[in-house]
Amino acid sequence: MKSTHLLRPYLIENRVFIFLGLLSLIAVDILQLIIPRIIKWVVDDLTMFDIDVARLMTFALYIAGIALLIGIFRYFWRLFLLGVSRRVEEGLRNQLFHHVQKLSPSYFDQVRTGDLMAHATNDIMHIRMAIGMGIVAITDAVLLGAAAIAFMAYINVTLTLFVLIPMPLIVFGTRFFSKRMHRRYGAVQGSFSDLTEAVRERFAGIRIIKAFTREEESQKHLNEKSRDYIEKNLRLIRIIGTFFPLMMLFSNLSMATVLFLGGRQTIFGTISPGDFVAFIAYVGIITWPMMALGWVTNLIQRGKASLDRINQILETDPEIYDKKTAIFLPKIVGNIAFQNVSFDYEFCEKEDRAHNRETSHVLSEISFQVQQGQTLGIVGPPGAGKSTILSLIPRLYDVCSGKILIDDTDIRDIQLAQLRGAISFVPQEPFLFADTIRENILLENESVHQQRLLTAVNAACLDETIQDLSDGFDTIVGEKGVVLSGGQKQRIALARAFLQDSPILLLDDPISQVDMETGANIVKYIREMTHKKTTIIVSHRLSAVSFADNIIVLENGKIIASGTHDQLMETSTYYAQTYKLQEIEEAFHAV
Ligand code: ATP
Repeated sequence: MKSTHLLRPYLIENRVFIFLGLLSLIAVDILQLIIPRIIKWVVDDLTMFDIDVARLMTFALYIAGIALLIGIFRYFWRLFLLGVSRRVEEGLRNQLFHHVQKLSPSYFDQVRTGDLMAHATNDIMHIRMAIGMGIVAITDAVLLGAAAIAFMAYINVTLTLFVLIPMPLIVFGTRFFSKRMHRRYGAVQGSFSDLTEAVRERFAGIRIIKAFTREEESQKHLNEKSRDYIEKNLRLIRIIGTFFPLMMLFSNLSMATVLFLGGRQTIFGTISPGDFVAFIAYVGIITWPMMALGWVTNLIQRGKASLDRINQILETDPEIYDKKTAIFLPKIVGNIAFQNVSFDYEFCEKEDRAHNRETSHVLSEISFQVQQGQTLGIVGPPGAGKSTILSLIPRLYDVCSGKILIDDTDIRDIQLAQLRGAISFVPQEPFLFADTIRENILLENESVHQQRLLTAVNAACLDETIQDLSDGFDTIVGEKGVVLSGGQKQRIALARAFLQDSPILLLDDPISQVDMETGANIVKYIREMTHKKTTIIVSHRLSAVSFADNIIVLENGKIIASGTHDQLMETSTYYAQTYKLQEIEEAFHAV
């Protein structure tokens, strides 16, 4: 689809405002052109001593009235035309955000958040400018420019031609400079976001910097970023500083030409003194349309390029979506089955075969079952694929081959909203929003009763922490929860999951950052809940899964052993050795 189609609905919706805005703008242009005519009459009458004070006052009132009208119409064109551009900006940004939210996690693996931010801010700003100021610049360049030239030519054609000689310099000069100014402005923006990101990161990681005594290096790094920002700003200032005086020079060259040639013609009587003064006023008026002519092409090219980029994102289909035949199950009770599931983040089997490439799956031929209300533990060394198994269940990624069934239905045949609504997920790295603890647990679900909130908070062993905070539930946790410890963040994520009334609970290393005692309490609560929910727990601490009905040991994406805790202590060397080691460790901490 052509990207300009994106704008059509907004332009149609706002057509009345565009029409009224254009009418106001044209009115301003026409009124501006009348003023030099009035000045001409006054000057001609004055030079012929053919005017009295009353008539002079009438002319002065005309000009004051016109100036008032110009002010009023200028207010309206700004309100209407710039208002339309703001409404388009709002609509496009919402459209983009709505679409990006639907895209699959694999898309975010490939695209940097900073780039998406740039699309949502810079690109949309360029589109807004191309619409708002684009309409204004085209109208002024064409209408005001042509009409001013016509008025000048009406006075004297030869003089007009002479005056117009420096004008192409203004048109091409503006085009030349605005391209460069835009490039340098982009560099300033890029440098500013680098600087703010560096400052933000260093403040967020201040503990690491202090612990490793890297304050000096950190300061040096920020000084470099700061210097870069200043240098880029100076480059921008240099070009802006050259552009405007140069344009004034070209405009004044025209003025000098009028003064000399027009003055001569006035002496010889070819034009009247009034015409001479009016001509000078028209030269003042014509500078802006010439600049607009040079500016508008850049403005529109830039807006079009930004629109293409936004369109490209909007045309990206989510890899994971509801099939047309997807069904809504009457109820999800929570039986989970993996049948020969293989998965790779980058290549799936079909593609591998096509590329004749040796397959190295993140997960290979994984099969297991968890019945409603049962608990499955997943253990294994780092990078074995434990988190990946969890992320396949809510379809954050789709399997490459094999099947995942929930209540005997392939999860790809269940409506996504129902599937995800049936799962509470505590990821390995809990993400907190820069909001209150309450909002971070509720996630904008305001209908939750206070008692349910308290039960979830108690279950996540978070009650004492909240009581100790001066603002309790209303404590703002800062960006990504900086004011909280790793364990507190993890417990907020747990409370979030415990709050949801869903039949399936997925926990990715839920007690990795809490102390032994808290961990044991959380596990106790999980055990109490296990009869109600189907639970899958990934954990490095084997004591957190030892109670599970079944445990699988994963290595290099393959199941190398499975069974209950007692069985694995007999059959799996990895499990038995790790368990004993951790037992010694826990006993050591307990002393
Ligand atoms: P840990 O115990 O350290 O959390 P894990 O067993 O949970 O590890 P996974 O996070 O599932 O392991 O990762 C399995 C493999 O997949 C690893 O080799 C990892 O590098 C890779 N991997 C994980 N996430 C991605 C991703 N988004 N894109 C590409 N590869 C990934």
